[in-house]
Amino acid sequence: MKAPDFGYVRPSTLAECLATLNEYGDEAQVLAGGQSLMPLMNFRLAKPGILVDIGGLPELATTRWETDHVVIGALTTHDTIATSDTIREQIPLLSDAAPHVAHVAIRSRGTIGGSIALADPAAEWPACCLALSAEIELASLRGGRRVPADEFFLGLYSTDRQADELVTGIRFPMLDDRRAHTFDEVSRRRGDFAIAGLALSCDLVGPKFKDIRVALLGVGDRPVLARGAMSVLEDAEPSDATTETAIEALSAELRPPDDPMYPPDYRRQVACVLLRRALNKLMG
Ligand SMILES: Cc1cc2nc3c(=O)[nH]c(=O)nc-3n(C[C@H](O)[C@H](O)[C@H](O)COP(=O)(O)OP(=O)(O)OC[C@H]3O[C@@H](n4cnc5c(N)ncnc54)[C@H](O)[C@@H]3O)c2cc1C
Repeated sequence: MKAPDFGYVRPSTLAECLATLNEYGDEAQVLAGGQSLMPLMNFRLAKPGILVDIGGLPELATTRWETDHVVIGALTTHDTIATSDTIREQIPLLSDAAPHVAHVAIRSRGTIGGSIALADPAAEWPACCLALSAEIELASLRGGRRVPADEFFLGLYSTDRQADELVTGIRFPMLDDRRAHTFDEVSRRRGDFAIAGLALSCDLVGPKFKDIRVALLGVGDRPVLARGAMSVLEDAEPSDATTETAIEALSAELRPPDDPMYPPDYRRQVACVLLRRALNKLMG
């Protein structure tokens, strides 16, 4: 199918872009990599009156290094994240997750900002943002604001972003050497959306898990922070008994979607296997 008629603007400054979003509100949709939006338009599941192409704003494709944060610009492609040595050094969880995002061709155009704004519950970046306590940077004519990832994802394809706001970047705390992380997912074929995936980040201080964050994708209407499993693991010593208790807690707290292809119990089971693998890896 072909997309319905739409208007098109390509602002050359951020101010112009924000003014356009302000003018058109709900009628406008931002075009970043187009890897989700164009198929949605072709299937007539999205019918924006006007596309605001942000491809003319190269400043959104840069990475900013602050004292204790790294800000990845919204227009940074999945592929740039996958291949950046500096990102691997500072936020290795992202480098590990990147090869799971779609296929090579999609990764070369799709952007982290597009993925965060779309909020597909089976996408990798939203779960990584939760695991890493990231903040989403938003800009509008009303000013800028930062929203913690925990508060940004509100439901199925639903976020705290307002119609006149542009996602400009994702702000990740810089990790120190004590921080351990792991990312894993199960999908039918490499590059498909995950049946379930897990991103974990924690301090291994002495013999205990500290400040542990366990986030899952594919098991809810949004990325899920596994608070039950996290409270079992926080301050606990890694052991087989701890792992079993955490898995029980995870199994009890997940409410996977009812889907004829992968029933809830199956997704729950996959998530528990992923947690077991992650904890075994950390113990190793
Ligand atoms: C076959 C296929 C397989 C895929 N598999 C995966 C996968 O396994 N994992 C995964 O995570 N993704 C997957 N995707 C999606 C892909 O990663 C997209 O690139 C991504 O979801 C959206 O990024 P984009 O830059 O292409 O955004 P676009 O398609 O341009 O936009 C997506 C949505 O976000 C909005 N938007 C974009 N940028 C901004 C911004 N800066 N501020 C405000 N709103 C914005 C748009 O208006 C639109 O609503 C797949 C896509 C396809 C076609």
